[in-house]
Amino acid sequence: MSAVVSRVSAPAVLMYHSISASAAPDPHRVRVHPDRLDRHLRLLRRLGLRGVSQTELLDAVDRGQAAGLVGLTFDDGFSDFLTTAVPVLARHGMTATVYVVAGHMGATNSWDTGPQFPIMTADQVRAVAAAGHEVGSHTMSHARLAGADPVTLAAEVVDSRRLLEDVLQAEVPGFCYPYGSYDAAAADAVRAAGYGNACVTGDYVPGDRYTLPRCYVSPRDTGAHVVARLARHAVRIRRPLPAASGR
Ligand SMILES: [Zn+2]
Repeated sequence: MSAVVSRVSAPAVLMYHSISASAAPDPHRVRVHPDRLDRHLRLLRRLGLRGVSQTELLDAVDRGQAAGLVGLTFDDGFSDFLTTAVPVLARHGMTATVYVVAGHMGATNSWDTGPQFPIMTADQVRAVAAAGHEVGSHTMSHARLAGADPVTLAAEVVDSRRLLEDVLQAEVPGFCYPYGSYDAAAADAVRAAGYGNACVTGDYVPGDRYTLPRCYVSPRDTGAHVVARLARHAVRIRRPLPAASGR
């Protein structure tokens, strides 16, 4: 195991969605049981790895101090992030980034035809930040941004940042493309809106600071599966990330 872990020197990032013990159908395979998350984080800790928010990870990369850190991200902003994931993260002394679909705060994941679950209210989003976690934007409506026109891009990228900054009374540096759908225009819009980083939903492309790759965590993944995903990710990303100002 230690031979595998020694390869995890690049900033690897795990992607979760809902953390819940619910037995409701999960057609998109995005619900991980809290006991399973607990086992994932316990193994990371045993291997000397610490989960941190995406922005903390990138700050550490800039300082050359990212060794031993793993990014933890949770997409969509489900209420179970606050009620269920945050206590597990706290137990292990880890932080994370939650990407909130800003236009759905206090509503549900109605962009999806599957089972509906609550998205955090503004108060819950503030509670997440108060607990030491990062809140990032996941657009207003969970829109696909590849091929989107400039008006749509502005509404999804700019308005969601403004809304979350208004709720938090703090800067929102992180962005996440719904469905991992992006193109050059979308990445440019994210950069122009003032975000410092953005991530996609897979580790199939090397990425830069505005298209950061992540490893999907499946509902059935054991801790060993997660570590194997991290190791593969590290192999794919050999070069350091270019600085934000570099392009
Ligand atoms: Zn999403």
